[in-house]
Amino acid sequence: MSTTVSTKSAFSGAPDTMDQISADVLEHIGSRDPEAARILAEEARRQETTLELIASENHVSSTVMHSVGTWMTNKYAEGYPGKRYYGGCTWHDAIEDLARDRAKALFNCAFANVQPHCGANANIAAFMALLKPGDTVLSLPIKSGGHLSHGLKPNFSGTFYNIVDYDLDPETERLDYDAIRAIARECKPRLIICGYSAYSRTIDFAEFRSIADEVGAYLMADIAHIAGLVASGVHPSPFPHAHVVTTTTHKTLRGPRGGLVLSDDEEIAKLVDRKVFPGSQGGPLMHAITGKAIAFGEALTPEFRSYQEQVVANARALAEALVEKGYRLCSGGTDNHLMLVDLRGRDADLTGADAERWLEAAGMIVNKNGIPNDPRPPMVTSGLRLGTPALTTRGLKEPEMVRVADWLDRVMTSKGDEAVCDAVREEIRVFCGDFPLPH
Ligand SMILES: *Cc1c(COP(=O)(O)O)cnc(C)c1O
Repeated sequence: MSTTVSTKSAFSGAPDTMDQISADVLEHIGSRDPEAARILAEEARRQETTLELIASENHVSSTVMHSVGTWMTNKYAEGYPGKRYYGGCTWHDAIEDLARDRAKALFNCAFANVQPHCGANANIAAFMALLKPGDTVLSLPIKSGGHLSHGLKPNFSGTFYNIVDYDLDPETERLDYDAIRAIARECKPRLIICGYSAYSRTIDFAEFRSIADEVGAYLMADIAHIAGLVASGVHPSPFPHAHVVTTTTHKTLRGPRGGLVLSDDEEIAKLVDRKVFPGSQGGPLMHAITGKAIAFGEALTPEFRSYQEQVVANARALAEALVEKGYRLCSGGTDNHLMLVDLRGRDADLTGADAERWLEAAGMIVNKNGIPNDPRPPMVTSGLRLGTPALTTRGLKEPEMVRVADWLDRVMTSKGDEAVCDAVREEIRVFCGDFPLPH
């Protein structure tokens, strides 16, 4: 049985709400490959008519969107600007230099490698630069808000390195720097990792560096989630504290999907370059690097700072509205762009998996997420992770966060009742018409 719709007539043209360039691109693809164009049009429609609350997602500008579908995709550019293994790289050198220079300006550091294909690849390169297989790494496990590339068993990190966990304080559900220091003294790690996927509080990078210095470890800050906040000064910078900083480019930073490694240390920088290429990747995705250059340019504008301030203000407003309705937030709230909702605070039987499914039926896209010490398994969970970067890109502000909280609560209180989900779905579809995707 196939679920693929494959009739040639199925592509019925670009949605009329779409900006002209995107519509032209879609019509063009549709004239040659209607089957693929139909899928693209459906996905565009899905994004236009639903609310994106996944904390790690965003909507790129149309400039970034179209820049990743260009001539730059046609080139092998193994190596680095001025030192390529293939001819014809003049303009690839130019765009990669532009991306590197803008990344350095954005994060105020001396070195940037813009080639990692994703955040996990940036971490592979950083691990290879700083560690030998078997070395000890101290990190927060995924079940407490860390990332799988920080030491999960089946991941490269958990396979090739000796991972020691630190954890959140069980009472405050926040980082406990004294406890982390005590574990570091005991296990003598070669690398300490800070930076998370589901942690809603400010990270004290200076405190982490003081722990690293005490035990002779490197400090790596993985700012994949908060990179946009950091670039705008809305969250403290990991510089000058971290030896190496890794990030994605597609979360709060609002660029194309990709990774980035930053450092102020010339020796570490040289090692990172070698470990990205040829250590762990072949030819760079030059079309994605083009998108990174443009996204970094956008991030250097005053408008981007205002955007990040609004992201944080919206998260606070959404958090307050949910608390008012009786939901419990892990750590009691948020300092950044995301929050972790403990659904048991509202209803002991609610699971993250049910809520995720019901909310999608009602036009709100979220992800279930384990909460600290979650008794339920990872495919069920007792929590939801909610973030405001994508909603803020569409222009939603504090008053709209109250409406979003209402919709979330109506669906969850009804336990996914079909009539309620349908009604909310329709309200959201109409509402989205007033908040178009970036043009
Ligand atoms: C998202 C994320 C990554 C990995 O990003 P991918 O691009 O999916 O590989 C790495 N670290 C942290 C903390 C993240 O949240």
